[in-house]
Parts: sequence; structure tokens; C-alpha cells
Amino acid sequence: AELWQEVPLAPPDSIFKLTAAYKADTFGKKVNLGVGAYRDDDSKPWVLPVVKKVTQILLNDETLDHEYLPITGLPEYTAAAAKLILGPSSVALTEGRTVSVQAISGTGANHLGALFLSRFYRWNGAPRIYLSNPTWANHHAIFKNVGIEPVEYPYYDPKTIGLDFEGFIDSLRAAPERSAFLLHACAHNPTGVDPTEEQWKVIAQVILEKKHYAFFDCAYQGFASGDLDKDAWAVRYFVELGVPLLVCQSFAKNAGLYGERVGALHIVSANPDTATRVKSQLSVLQRSEISNPPSHGARLVSLILNDAGLFEEWKRDIRTMAERIIAMRHELHRLLTQELKTPGNWDHIVKQIGMFSFTGINTEQSKALVEQAHIYLTANGRISMAGLNSHNIRYFAENLDKVVR
Ligand code: PMP
Repeated sequence: AELWQEVPLAPPDSIFKLTAAYKADTFGKKVNLGVGAYRDDDSKPWVLPVVKKVTQILLNDETLDHEYLPITGLPEYTAAAAKLILGPSSVALTEGRTVSVQAISGTGANHLGALFLSRFYRWNGAPRIYLSNPTWANHHAIFKNVGIEPVEYPYYDPKTIGLDFEGFIDSLRAAPERSAFLLHACAHNPTGVDPTEEQWKVIAQVILEKKHYAFFDCAYQGFASGDLDKDAWAVRYFVELGVPLLVCQSFAKNAGLYGERVGALHIVSANPDTATRVKSQLSVLQRSEISNPPSHGARLVSLILNDAGLFEEWKRDIRTMAERIIAMRHELHRLLTQELKTPGNWDHIVKQIGMFSFTGINTEQSKALVEQAHIYLTANGRISMAGLNSHNIRYFAENLDKVVR
């Protein structure tokens, strides 16, 4: 028999399948609300002006070559990336107990973090990671790949289209001591529902009491509120409190560098000695997985983060993206509640944060939008706010109105 005859056919990734269907659709008013990437007001990918500028700087730099980077990445990039998420005066940095390793964007950071935990975490029982219900679907696959079993904690409450705070806290309390919890640092994917600062404080307190581990995934810093520091608040608060944690960081969304795969894994240890040992093992793992991380994207981000002027330009570009998305939330809310008088409460559209919004519509209604209106979204009713713009928002609102009536 043929060698791979028994390999079962896997289903296509649902998001990439949705994108393919959108591309094949010839209807003029079609709308793509599936993709998790920023689009400008003309539905086009946006190269940030500051990224264009630093790309030119790199092109003109005769000193650069294509040698391998160190195994743990470009040092001036990882150091600046750590400051960006932890804050420049973070005790975890001033005390020299943070290890930062360049990774293949956020996905690679999640993988490396998961792999490190699978090898070295002092598990209380079988290796398990608590994931929010729901979460980015890839989290499940990433942890399973390294032999850590995903289990879910309550997060989203369909009744309120908001946070199931009590369920979340109960589950933190009920989990065995030293459990590992994955937390979205900001702009929760797919719901757009984040804890408030007051709620984060309670979450942190329980995590500390139960000696849990906080596995932060930060894929949207700056993208949520338009303010890099504000979006890092939860991570910094946990560090201040002394919660044992790591952070997976991605520059895919906030720098529009999706395909460049620029990310980092930051592990905060108790002291510099532990950090040294952690770093040595991360190097060993990274070596066997990718040998050396890619240089181009890291150089771009390093230039932006290490130059005060370019950093200001980047912040302006981030605000451009975040503000357009927030404006779309308000316009959609206005159309539904004031113009169309769509049945139901739509306040969650403006309360939710970041790229995504859980509209609260059901599977049939989502399907109807795809099939009847050529509006592409996932079956869970999640829409990418970045897919909306001044040209298509009315068409979307009218069709949403139709399917919920
Ligand atoms: N984590 C979350 C929650 C995400 O939404 C994403 C992007 N969809 C990622 C990680 C990783 O993305 P990337 O590998 O492109 O940085």
C-alpha cells in the first residue's frame, strides 16, 4: 500500500477557508469581516508610514549583511521589546531577572513558552493549561502539540455579551495550586471583552494566593486603546505584584508586520541566577527548533523602538489604526440603535475593545449574512472591526438588522 494512504484528510483552517471563499466571490458589495488583519478605509492592507521609513533606512545601510542572528535573537530588539511591554522602569528589568528571546511572531512565542513549560514547569499533576472559553483556536493546538492538555475556564457570558467574572474567579479558586492560566493581556480574541482594572486586580490576587502561573499572550498592545502603556497595564500590574509569569509578544498587528514574523517571549524569573538558567534552556530549545530567528523584521522594530523620533511616529500610526476601529464601533452602534432601530441591545459593540467584536448573533444568523449578503464572518458571530469602513458599514448594518429581525 502507498505509504501515506492512511493519513486522514484534515479540514482546512476555518479562517483561511473563509478568506478563500471571500476572494472567489464576484459580488461587488462583498465584505470580509473574518480576517484578523488591519485594513484601511478602502479595505486595503496598510503599510505603516514609519515602517516604510525604516525599511528605506535598512535598504541604505551598507553595513548590514545576512549573517545569522544569535540564537536568542537581535539583542537590541529583544531588550527594547521587553521595555515596551514591561515598562522601561519595571523591577523585572532593573533587577535583571527577565529573559527575552526573539520568536517567530506571537505564534512562535506561544509555542516556545508552551514547550519550555512542558519541559521545566513544576506541574501539580498532569500538565494542563487553562484557556479562556472561548479563545484564539490556535491556543488549543499549540499546547496539545507539546503534550500539555488544554482545559477551559469560563470567560464569555452570552447572556450579557460580556465577561463571566464570577465564573472566571471561581475557576481560578477551584484549580489545583500552581495551575497555569493563559491570559489575554488586552483585546481578547475572539470576544473583544477584557476585564476592567478592578477585575484584573482581583484576578491577580487569586492567582497569587493559589500560586498559579500567568501565561500572558499579548498580540494587540496599542491596538486596543491606541495607547501602548494602557494596553500593557495588566501585565505590568502582575509583575509589580510578583505573580510568576511569562509574556508572548507579537508585532504583527501593532506594527502591521504580519508576514515578517516578529515576536518575543519574555520570562520573568524570581532572580538573575534563575533567569540565567532559564535563558540557557530557552537557547537549547530554540536551537533545535529554528536555530536562529529571522533578522529583517527584528531590525525594523528595533530601529523604531530605539529611536525617540521614530517611536513617536509609530505611536501616531498606532493611533490611526486604533482610532479608525473605534470610530467604526461608534458608527455601527449609531446605525443600529438610532437609524435602523434594530431590536436588542448593541452597547457591547462600543464597550468591546480591539480588532474583534462578538456581535452576539447566532450560527444561523452568521450563516445567513454569508449566504444572503456576501458578508463573510465566522460562525461564532465574531466580526473584525477592521473590515468595516465608511463605504461598507451601512450595507453591513442593514443586513445585520435584517438577520436579527
Ligand atoms: N495570540 C492571539 C490571541 C492572536 O489573536 C494572534 C493573532 N491572530 C496571535 C497570538 C499570533 O499571531 P502572530 O503569530 O501572527 O503574531
